[in-house]
Amino acid sequence: MTRLNAKDGLVLTVPVVTGHQDFTGDTMTLISLALQRADLVRTQNFIAGQWRDAGLSASYNVSDPATGEQFARVPDSTAADAHDATDAAQNAFEPWRFTPARERAAILKRWHALIVEHSEDLARLMSREQGKPMPESRAEVLYGAAYVEWFAEEAVRTYGDIIPEQVRGRKMMVVLEPVGVVAVITPWNFPLAMIARKLAPALAAGCTVVAKPAEDTPLTALALVRLAENAGVPAGVLNIVTSSRAAAPALVNDWIIDPRVRKVSFTGSTEVGKLLARGSADTLKKLSLELGGNAPFVVFDDADVDAAVEGLVISKFRNSGQTCVCPNRVYVQDAIHDVFSEKLAARMKTMRVGPATRDESQIGPLINERAVEKVERHVKDAVSKGAALLLGGTRVRNDVANGPFYFAPTLLANATADMMLFGEETFGPVVPLFRFATEAEGVRAANDTQFGLASYFYARDVGRISRVAELLQAGIVGINVGAVSTEVAPFGGVKESGYGREGSRRGIEEYMQTKYVCLGSS
Ligand code: NAP
Repeated sequence: MTRLNAKDGLVLTVPVVTGHQDFTGDTMTLISLALQRADLVRTQNFIAGQWRDAGLSASYNVSDPATGEQFARVPDSTAADAHDATDAAQNAFEPWRFTPARERAAILKRWHALIVEHSEDLARLMSREQGKPMPESRAEVLYGAAYVEWFAEEAVRTYGDIIPEQVRGRKMMVVLEPVGVVAVITPWNFPLAMIARKLAPALAAGCTVVAKPAEDTPLTALALVRLAENAGVPAGVLNIVTSSRAAAPALVNDWIIDPRVRKVSFTGSTEVGKLLARGSADTLKKLSLELGGNAPFVVFDDADVDAAVEGLVISKFRNSGQTCVCPNRVYVQDAIHDVFSEKLAARMKTMRVGPATRDESQIGPLINERAVEKVERHVKDAVSKGAALLLGGTRVRNDVANGPFYFAPTLLANATADMMLFGEETFGPVVPLFRFATEAEGVRAANDTQFGLASYFYARDVGRISRVAELLQAGIVGINVGAVSTEVAPFGGVKESGYGREGSRRGIEEYMQTKYVCLGSS
């Protein structure tokens, strides 16, 4: 009943399951990813410092996107579990809030050290449930860890103000205080980084947390919480519940309607973000919404074409194109369009599709069948409306990429604004090339979307760089660079990509509220 999958040291011992056969509770313990710390594989909720099953003992399967094989079961939690988590977080709030900032910082620093120490285990877990190649998982673990370290350092710097005396004998102070219990809801595409960059500032600020990771990728988040427990985060300060997609709305709704939850920090689709914003209106919660992107990547005729090709490849194909900041629309100015297209096609032909278990894989599987169907729909629609398919366009299945969710790196030319891929994130390894003639036209086209998360452009003329950077409607602008995310800079969008910023010195204030204290002379 066990299967061995030994490659790249990623050894799995799992019960062999076909179709939708259910595991029994005990078989969950058979999961072994040859991790140095087997106890990082957690398959229970963590509430009030206890690992426990969902109240109704329901559970759901976690699948490996490389094969479609189910390999673990985690709790399928309900509103009652969410409520228990809120009770725990509420009870833990006062003591945590009044824990000196230095002590909170010390716990976060220990957590950071543990994440780094166990980064290989975390990367293996992540690749197993999410599918991304191991180098990407390793990089994501360190990227997520960097937010924990950063906010450990920021915890001791949440300064307020002393206002110069305006009326004799009257002292005026401004203090920042933690908002209270925070609900954290995260997507599957960056299973560690997305949750780390919410938990770290929330805990640093003195908030307590109830969290729900995505259905597809609960194990990395649970492992991260295990390390937080080991670092000494007190019971009730950090609580996490998992659920299937079907159960998520009811579970999250319990937090949305609960007046004790004072803040929702959400990363995910714009559609769900809007639902949460509407629901939060009744209790007027503070919100951070990191939502969908539809990033333009504009290559002007004065660009270094080779650098632009490389920048696009780095930016577009990370995580198989399943990244909120990855270019979705690529605009190339007339004079360099054809040479750019040829060089990009040549570069894309070198990309290797395969599972995380192979060192040479660069494009892993997409997350699930829904994701592949969306990519197929976009490609089919584009071709039916006149796009030229220059590369790819179909699923890949062979001896190496031997699973249902692999999609070939795809290049489309003659893309136009009436195509689905113009208006929505494709979230797959598809590059559509749009042509434009003038600088003004390129900027107009880039901004022609309701989204505004990341944008990129390549140019060398200084005047153009300064004009275009100012005109792009996006929270993040990359100029002559394809990878921009870092804990030291503010990450977030404008327009329907949401509001709030993660990282940077501003990130912690998302979890704090301002109090003005006026002290008269008695
Ligand atoms: P999603 O469907 O919106 O899901 C995100 C989270 O919300 C998951 O935990 C999901 O749980 C939960 N959820 C889904 N429906 C819900 C509902 N009706 N009520 C309450 N919670 C609900 O997004 P996704 O498909 O996981 O992630 C991809 C999207 O995230 C893309 O649009 C991408 O651009 C965006 N994203 C944005 C950023 C950013 O920083 N701006 C970063 C990464 C990703 P289940 O998994 O159980 O459904």
